[in-house]
Amino acid sequence: MMDVYSPKTLEEAIRLLDADPGLKVVAGGTDLIPRLNQRLESYDKLCYIRPYPETSGVRTEEDGRLFVGASVRLNETAEIPELAPYTALVSAATHVASYQIRNQATIGGNILQENRCMFFNNQVHWSDVNHCFKWGGNKCYQFPQSKVCMALFQSDVAPVLIAYGASVRVRGPEGEREIPAEKLYNSWNAKDPKNQKSLAHNEILTGILLPPAEEVGRSSYVRWTLRGTFDFPLLSCALAVRTEGDAVTRCGICFGAAGIRPQAFPAGADAFTGLALSELPAAAKGLHAEAAKRIQPFRDTHLDGNVRREKAGWLLEAAVAELLSPDNGKHTWFRGSAELMAPVE
Ligand SMILES: Cc1cc2nc3c(=O)[nH]c(=O)nc-3n(C[C@H](O)[C@H](O)[C@H](O)COP(=O)(O)OP(=O)(O)OC[C@H]3O[C@@H](n4cnc5c(N)ncnc54)[C@H](O)[C@@H]3O)c2cc1C
Repeated sequence: MMDVYSPKTLEEAIRLLDADPGLKVVAGGTDLIPRLNQRLESYDKLCYIRPYPETSGVRTEEDGRLFVGASVRLNETAEIPELAPYTALVSAATHVASYQIRNQATIGGNILQENRCMFFNNQVHWSDVNHCFKWGGNKCYQFPQSKVCMALFQSDVAPVLIAYGASVRVRGPEGEREIPAEKLYNSWNAKDPKNQKSLAHNEILTGILLPPAEEVGRSSYVRWTLRGTFDFPLLSCALAVRTEGDAVTRCGICFGAAGIRPQAFPAGADAFTGLALSELPAAAKGLHAEAAKRIQPFRDTHLDGNVRREKAGWLLEAAVAELLSPDNGKHTWFRGSAELMAPVE
């Protein structure tokens, strides 16, 4: 038996969460419910959050930033005119999973989705034997020395937010607070070794705050997957560059599916800043070794050990090519790219 709540207001949802540590938030449910069905997790009580006024729609804040409600569905991002200049964000959101899932999945749920690992997201009897952190045990099977769960974070949207320098807004019993998107994933909490997010149990993400479009500039998002659709990224790269004339004046780069959190690449961003756009492809070629250092080795059923690392530089080059392409945002990167799928030397 499971109790399902559907509070009418955001305040009521927060009150319920605050009163009951066993209550679990559900938005679209496309991340959480499959895990419940697989019996990887179980809860006695679920709290379905509705699209409340505080978590809905898109609006410009007084300071010029664009608020995107956490309840916005991934497919909706392509239909919201204010989001059109945020090419990488729309591209990332509209390449998640499948069309049907994107109709149900929220942008808030995407950036708070659970990390994944073949030692957990597996058949129940396997997890039963191998008690990793996520399964209530005291070991990480990926990195046996680790004191926390090192499962891979594969959100498509999160790396874009970090490349943009965006923040998120959360509401709890004490009121509202803002967190830079990068800090949302900074939780190395040995007391809660299976949780990689910096959100308290009684807090609800209400939305994302994007810098004004002219500050973000051009952006691109590329993802390397085994299949063209319905697939988590094996590795992804978000790139945003603001220019004055032809010169890059601000740059943000972030890799997704690169470790337990999205991995920003400040050395790459510094290398690009000050260059002309036409110089970026050559600069990206020279950054393979540095890019590889940002990627955590990780084994799963598709790839072994260091393959993700070896591909990081290629992906950065692809992000630059996409940024400079007149069709930026229209490609379905990167299924079947011969270059990326070639064996690593
Ligand atoms: C077959 C399949 C393929 C997938 N492929 C991809 C993919 O390619 N890329 C990708 O990024 N994801 C993928 N996903 C994961 C998932 O579908 C998406 O990330 C989706 O955006 C999650 O959104 P949701 O609203 O359904 O989240 P939910 O399942 O409702 O919630 C996810 C988590 O976030 C928490 N949460 C949700 N909203 C809030 C909030 N407002 N405040 C506080 N906590 C909250 C929930 O408690 C839960 O822990 C895939 C899933 C499936 C089943």
